[in-house]
Amino acid sequence: MTKALIIGGGVAGPVAAMALQKAGIDSVVCEARGTDTDDVGAFMTIMNNGFDALHAIEADKPVLEASFPADRAVFWSGSGRRLGEAPIGGGPAGGYGPHNIKRAELYRVLHEEAVGRGIEIERGERLDDVDVEAERGVAAIFEDGSRREAELLIGADGVHSATRVLIDPRAPEPRYTGTVVLCGYARQAPVDPMPGAYRMIYGKRVFFAYTTAPDGETWWFVNLPRPELSKVELASTSVAEWKRQATALLRDDRSPAAAIVEASEQIRASNGYDIASTPRWHAGRMVLVGDAAHAAAPNAGHGASMAMEDAVVLAKCLRDAPEPGAAFRAYEALRRERVERLVATSAKMGGTATPGPIKRLIRDVAISKRLKGGPRNTAAWLTQHHIDWLSPVALGSPSGDEGPLTSG
Ligand SMILES: Cc1cc2nc3c(=O)[nH]c(=O)nc-3n(C[C@H](O)[C@H](O)[C@H](O)COP(=O)(O)OP(=O)(O)OC[C@H]3O[C@@H](n4cnc5c(N)ncnc54)[C@H](O)[C@@H]3O)c2cc1C
Repeated sequence: MTKALIIGGGVAGPVAAMALQKAGIDSVVCEARGTDTDDVGAFMTIMNNGFDALHAIEADKPVLEASFPADRAVFWSGSGRRLGEAPIGGGPAGGYGPHNIKRAELYRVLHEEAVGRGIEIERGERLDDVDVEAERGVAAIFEDGSRREAELLIGADGVHSATRVLIDPRAPEPRYTGTVVLCGYARQAPVDPMPGAYRMIYGKRVFFAYTTAPDGETWWFVNLPRPELSKVELASTSVAEWKRQATALLRDDRSPAAAIVEASEQIRASNGYDIASTPRWHAGRMVLVGDAAHAAAPNAGHGASMAMEDAVVLAKCLRDAPEPGAAFRAYEALRRERVERLVATSAKMGGTATPGPIKRLIRDVAISKRLKGGPRNTAAWLTQHHIDWLSPVALGSPSGDEGPLTSG
């Protein structure tokens, strides 16, 4: 008998399904997307803590194999001055270190791994409503009117989560960060590859970063301060138009950024969103994981890794608690402080104002000075988090067993 329905087959969904299976709980993943891969053009960095969570359920290797390392960043000013370099994610302290992967590839790898373990992933099932009086505990009602019953419903349906609103109709709406993120790919960009490195440019108007994949393709992103894009604009703005808008903001910099953008074959745009705090993570038989519970702005590059952590910790709680309510309370106690700290940290890293020349100079000097001070592992609380699958969850304890750096 199916015990859990997982709504959303992005990052948290398949990881939750594999973790639940390891905890002895069957599940079905219901994903809204059919075969179309719209809105998955971005790429992302999986951090050490994300790999640690995957390792707890033996799912780290396929993601590692499909990704490539990006463990250091070299910083430049818009005037072409090298400001210094630093390890990404606080530097290696054991574990895998940061790796880049296209979102579509991450989804594919996680799906294949889950399906290979016998987990059912149903596509084209968009959650629309729930019936909390269902015989088995809870029923998901999908847009096409179909219905599935289970004992638990796990909302892994991302930043615009329908489950979040079904749990709490007054849940806060995602907050637009003021920045559209463009991600692009260029096969013939005029750059010297620097394996394992991101080049990050604090430009005169915008921040631009790029890295080179092992096949020589340049992957880049730029944060464009501008009003939120509508669904129609997201779907209809052409690559040529994105090139025009991005190069207008990059061409005054002494950097290869504008030329990389010009050379790109693909460009995808996403609105940046976050949710500072979601008051209710669970109600009755329903619970949230990943961006559905706590979306962070993309700046810190950590949302997917946190979604993986959530999924594994929730499965541990369901394994150890006598009933779902106790499991959900333990899960929230273990996760809320950590993920909300990430949301706040990532929000501070953003900023949409274009600094004037003096502010830019002060900023560049400060960055350069900080980098000269040598690596400071300020991200250790994020990247060195460890989940011990075998340790029992301390039920009823306010902080549980997964401390900021370790698990019990
Ligand atoms: C431009 C950009 C760059 C980013 N870079 C990074 C990075 O470098 N590193 C990082 O860790 N994170 C990054 N992130 C954040 C990261 O993408 C998210 O934190 C992560 O995808 C969250 O995983 P999730 O499973 O919670 O949600 P998602 O990956 O968004 O998956 C949610 C799934 O639910 C499905 N769904 C939605 N509604 C329904 C419904 N009603 N019924 C059924 N299914 C539904 C969706 O189709 C989707 O497949 C970035 C985000 C953006 C926008």
